[in-house]
Formats: sequence, structure tokens, C-alpha cells
Amino acid sequence: MYTLKVKLPSKNYEIYIKKGLLDYIGIKLKDICSSNKIAIITDKNVNAIYGDKLSMYLNKQGFITKTIVVKPGENSKSLENAEKIYNDLLDFKIKRSDMIIAFGGGVVGDLAGFVSSTFLRGIPFIQIPTTLLAQVDSSVGGKVAVNLPRGKNLVGSFYHPNAVFIDTDFLKTLNKRYLYDGMSEVIKYGCINNKNLFYDLLQYKLESDLFDNLDKIVFTCCSIKKDIVERDEKDLGERMILNFGHTIGHGIEKYYNYSYYTHGEAVAIGMYNITKKSEEVGITQKGTSQEIKTILHKYNLPYKMPNLEKSKLIQPIMIDKKNNNKYFNIVLLKQIGEAFIHKIDLKEINKFI
Ligand code: ADP
Ligand code: ZN
Repeated sequence: MYTLKVKLPSKNYEIYIKKGLLDYIGIKLKDICSSNKIAIITDKNVNAIYGDKLSMYLNKQGFITKTIVVKPGENSKSLENAEKIYNDLLDFKIKRSDMIIAFGGGVVGDLAGFVSSTFLRGIPFIQIPTTLLAQVDSSVGGKVAVNLPRGKNLVGSFYHPNAVFIDTDFLKTLNKRYLYDGMSEVIKYGCINNKNLFYDLLQYKLESDLFDNLDKIVFTCCSIKKDIVERDEKDLGERMILNFGHTIGHGIEKYYNYSYYTHGEAVAIGMYNITKKSEEVGITQKGTSQEIKTILHKYNLPYKMPNLEKSKLIQPIMIDKKNNNKYFNIVLLKQIGEAFIHKIDLKEINKFI
């Protein structure tokens, strides 16, 4: 088993990573949870495959559980849904000493985390991420949020779990498109921080090689994110490095109204295209974008910029909440495994996008 200790001013917690970990979560929770009441928030798909098993393991250890099931998909991350869940928690008579488990992908993690952070001013919660994207990204870092009709993740906070349990066996039932979606973030970690990870991924021959190494891969990604989050918990500086490929990626997602490309696919296009441009202006080592193209192709991810109106792509980027007016921060690579934040004048944006 791989274990990571996340140390933050407000909270310390552990991330456990192991194939087959689901079977032991009940036992582990006995040490973490002081009360015996647990609300499990999950979605319909995850519940259908793993719901009974999780409840059974928890009940076996003496926990009383209630499962709250939401519809799969981004639309579930709404205030309306949060309110429904608050009512379910009231019916279940959850107190501040009880616990919530977020059991699912990034959608469930964000929604259940948001509910945990607000209900009775905060209930302890545990993350059990079941998609690769959630395992390497959304379950570490404490960002919880719901969407508003006018935009994604507009209401939320930083609220860390009391523990994260990652069982890579969950990924066996994940739709392949979602698996590759998560691989895009894995590749990102290789690009920004760890060339060994990048080249290992590049040399795996079969998908079984990938599956055999998933515990180590997820551990490497979570360690990179943990280190960065520990240094910049509130996303005011260095944490921006994790946004490599995301400026263009978010632009593409928005352009297609979040319906054509998955997050990982849009980020893949972003990583390749920004690197191609920064190579052209002499910032990135030559050949880097070609290597990114090769690895994206290998993991069934797109790299080509779709034929779209560039001004419409740039517009949402300009109004992104993280940008002040005159300057613009973008994340670029020096080479594979090394990223840095580059400040550009807004007028220069065309050079990079
Ligand atoms: P993300 O983590 O990419 O934000 P979602 O939470 O939207 O993703 O989950 C993506 C889809 O995969 C949803 O339809 C969800 O129900 C489904 N899903 C999540 N985990 C699993 C799993 N381990 N096996 C099968 N389907 C899953
Ligand atoms: Zn991302």
C-alpha cells in the first residue's frame, strides 16, 4: 500500500492507495471515524456496481449507513441537488460528529465535498474516488464546488477530506473514454514535474502494463499534487503549475459548451498546442511538442486544435477569474518534466494561443 501524508495548516490527513482497498475501508474507518453513522453520497452508476459492497463492508464494522444517490453527470453539481441532499441528511439525523463519504468521480467528489463543507457548518468527510481523473486530481487539493447556471464551480470553498481511499481496481469498470480522460491529467504530471513518469508511460506496450502499474502511477501523481498544494493551498501562486494545458483546454470546453470534448481531451489539445507555440518562440526545448503528440496519440487523446474561431476561444480566457487586466500568466514547459509560470502582456496572447 502507498500512503501519503498531506500536511496543511488547517488539517493533516492521509491518502491510501492500493488495488482492492475497498475491502478494507470499513476497518480503516474504525480508526478515523469517532461516530457510527455514515452518509454515502454516490451516483447511480457507481452505486449499481459497488454500492452494496461498500455498505456491506461498513455495516460489518458496525456503521449505520444511508446511501444518497444522484444522477450521473455534471448537471448534478447544482445548488438544487445540494439542498435535496441537506434534506436527506436531516432525515438521517446526521450530526457534526458523523461522517459523509464521497463515493464516485469528480462530480460526486465536488458535490459531496461542498455539502460536507456547508451542512451544519462542516461535517467530516472521506473521499473514495472511482475515476482516474478524480483519483489523481479532484480528490487531492480540497477544492469543493457546485455550478451555477451562469458557470462552472462558481460557488464553493477549500475543504479537505479526513482521508482519501484510492482503489485502482475501480478503474477496471470505467468506460475507456473516461480512463483516457484521466490519462490526460496523468500525462500532465509527467510533463510538469516528472520525466520518468512521462517516459515510463511512453514505453508501456500493452494496456495491461498500464493497469499493472496504476498504483505507482496514481501515487506519483498524488505526491506531485500534494507537494504543490502544501506549498500553495489556496491557489495563489505555484499551484497554477497544475493548470498546464488548462488555459486553452478550458477555452475549448467552453467553446463547445462542455458537450463535445471531455475535460482531459480539451487539456490534451491545450498541452500540445501551447508547447508547440512556446517551442516556436524558443522557450521550450525543441522536440518537446512532438513527444507530447506521441504520448497523447498513444493514450487515444486528441492533440489537434479544432477548426474554431480563435477570437471566440480567447474571449473566455480573457475573462477568466484568475487573470488581472494587463498581464496574463501561462504555464509553459522548459522541457519534459519541468514547468514554469510565464507572465505575458495580454497583447502577446496570440503568440501562444
Ligand atoms: P469525472 O471524475 O471525470 O469528473 P464523473 O464523476 O462525471 O467524472 O464520472 C464519469 C462517469 O463515470 C459517470 O457516468 C460515473 O457514473 C461513471 N463512473 C465513475 N466511476 C466509475 C467506475 N469505477 N466504474 C464505472 N463507471 C464509473
Ligand atoms: Zn484538469
